[in-house]
Amino acid sequence: MRTLIRFLLLVTVCAFLLPAVAGAETLTQSFDHKLGMNQAAQSWEHRIDLPDAMAQKGMSFFRRALTLSGKLVIEREELTPTYYYVRVHLPKAFLGSKGSLNVRLEAVENMPPCAPVARPTGLALAKNSDPTAPTFTWNGLGKYAAVSLYDVTANRNVFERIVLDARSYGMDEGRLPIGHHYRWAVCESDECARYSPEAQAGFRLELRTERCWTCNGYGWVRCNTCNGTGIVVVQGQNGQPVQTMCSWCHGTGRQTCTFCNGTGRIERPIAIPE
Ligand SMILES: [Zn+2]
Ligand SMILES: [Zn+2]
Repeated sequence: MRTLIRFLLLVTVCAFLLPAVAGAETLTQSFDHKLGMNQAAQSWEHRIDLPDAMAQKGMSFFRRALTLSGKLVIEREELTPTYYYVRVHLPKAFLGSKGSLNVRLEAVENMPPCAPVARPTGLALAKNSDPTAPTFTWNGLGKYAAVSLYDVTANRNVFERIVLDARSYGMDEGRLPIGHHYRWAVCESDECARYSPEAQAGFRLELRTERCWTCNGYGWVRCNTCNGTGIVVVQGQNGQPVQTMCSWCHGTGRQTCTFCNGTGRIERPIAIPE
């Protein structure tokens, strides 16, 4: 009980101290980027060094706050006592895109303790997301998360993002090839940018053959022109109605299902956890 009270006191003191560290100085910088119509996706690297004036006072970078706007995303970042590094990215967009990142860095003389963030849990792909561009979900308490996806079959990293204030992120660029094995990982951090150990999960993408839901597996659907009767009524020479064979379905009353091309089967990509 006493330990608990001491812990709570410590938490209260920390919460009180954190918003304004004595003698802290801040540095703010914005990075704006844009892509023209149909321009290829692009990444940019930025580095902010600790100003000499701060270094001479014995200060070092302690924490950072990030604000993203527009379509700009963050691929990776690193905060050290003497510099902040960030790589931002704009995915390709037909009509072009733009966005900006605002970085606010705080430097202090005496580095306060920075509690590590716990490893995220509950990694899963969102059930209703397209498996070839999945939405990653996890549980955790960190304000920042680093999500990365590795294609085991092709032996390369295919996706990485720093996510702000969210517990899920949908792949906003590219499609994953079917038949490959994948590993993905999440780690979280707080304002100090000290990341937790990685939590990992894996899956493979396969094509599953299913009954076509448009034609229920028959490969054909009822002809719309004759309503499935094979017969249409046209006006004869004297204005009287004349029954004639439906030319759309050649009298069969059926049209080939365009969804499955008449096979009655469709192939759908699925992600299998592994
Ligand atoms: Zn017909
Ligand atoms: Zn069909």
